[in-house]
Amino acid sequence: MVTQPEQAKPHEFNPWLRVASLIETAGHQLGLADDMIQRIIQPERILEVSVPVRMDSGRIQMFTGWRIQHDTSRGPGKGGIRFHPSVNTDEIAALSADMSIKCAVVNIPYGGAKGGVKVDPEALSRSELERLTRRYAFSIAPMIGPDRDIPAPDINTDFQVMSWIMDTVSMLRGHNMPGVVTGKPLSIGGTLGHAGATSLGVTICAAAILERLGRPMNEQRVIIQGYGKVGAPLVKLLSDRGMKVVGISDVHGAIHVPEGISYSILAKHFAEAHTVVGYPGALHVGAEEFWAIPSDIAIPAALGGVITEDVAEVLSASIVIEAANGPTTGEGAAVLARRGIQAVPDVLANAGGVVASYFEWAQDLQGFMWERELFTQRLEKTMSDAFKYVWQRHLELNVTLREAAIAVGVERIAEATEVRGLFP
Ligand code: GLU
Repeated sequence: MVTQPEQAKPHEFNPWLRVASLIETAGHQLGLADDMIQRIIQPERILEVSVPVRMDSGRIQMFTGWRIQHDTSRGPGKGGIRFHPSVNTDEIAALSADMSIKCAVVNIPYGGAKGGVKVDPEALSRSELERLTRRYAFSIAPMIGPDRDIPAPDINTDFQVMSWIMDTVSMLRGHNMPGVVTGKPLSIGGTLGHAGATSLGVTICAAAILERLGRPMNEQRVIIQGYGKVGAPLVKLLSDRGMKVVGISDVHGAIHVPEGISYSILAKHFAEAHTVVGYPGALHVGAEEFWAIPSDIAIPAALGGVITEDVAEVLSASIVIEAANGPTTGEGAAVLARRGIQAVPDVLANAGGVVASYFEWAQDLQGFMWERELFTQRLEKTMSDAFKYVWQRHLELNVTLREAAIAVGVERIAEATEVRGLFP
């Protein structure tokens, strides 16, 4: 499945081929041997499981799930689990490779992994969701563990789903195992600061690139695609730093507020309406006009593959910060580069989440919980150091920030692979 698109149609965006080609290009830029590049590209382990679930009606419905470990040369696999109807082998393989690179870019001792179930969780009751989660956790249990592979939340999964996974694996092994997943509630070994950590990392990257480009924060108009786990906290974090959020979209539509969106009014509106649409006084814009809203920074914070060639052509912003995973297609990235639009890539911009997970896991292994100040201070340092290093490599290699970040990740993975040698 690895070098061939498995399920995508020829005209469709295939995230696996995209990440494989990014790794290959970086490998060539770094002068790595072809066999090393192939070793880095190929996922180490792919598990596909069937997930039978007894529905509330009494009948049994079948779902399919995956857990893929892409590379574990630098440490145990790490990466989220998503529940979404679009999930397939190629998508999870691509996201697992993104995780290998992401963990290497922020220099935390993990490899990359990802999991998912092809399901629309909106269509399940809470007890169906719990049964699906527990059966999926049981099926991937042989592959996960604190020293093997540590799942975390991703699209449509949260602290509750992580708690059910932690409980299922703990029951199977016969003892409490907090370090088997991250993104847990505080009551069972979660960490202060995990919620909102991805958004904080995105904000740190926004501040860092503005500083490098000499642009004042209080002159930036921002648009955000997505008002979920990552998008919602961003509205406050960016506004607190003086930026003006002028556009937000969600699955129901988009709003444009040229004078700036108030995070407190939006939070209140969303709590009642469950959508950003209808924000008091907002101009309504169609999905196709969203990216053209006059702005300086655009933040995709929802699904992958949204910054296509067409979107990149009409984008008003001159900076893109990729809070989502894989939001930019290859053609989209080429247009951004041609138009001189700087893109802080996902493997750097959204790494705050996995850094937070690393801190949670370290606390669980030690059985010693940190104060929030220590967490925030270490997160900020890890993210700023990573940004600084990627920025430096982008200047040294004379490549885009995306190419520099992938090169940093691939270089570190190659170093670990090389020094460990080949078994047997
Ligand atoms: N799902 C998040 C990501 O894509 C976090 C993964 C983790 O914490 O392991 O980076």
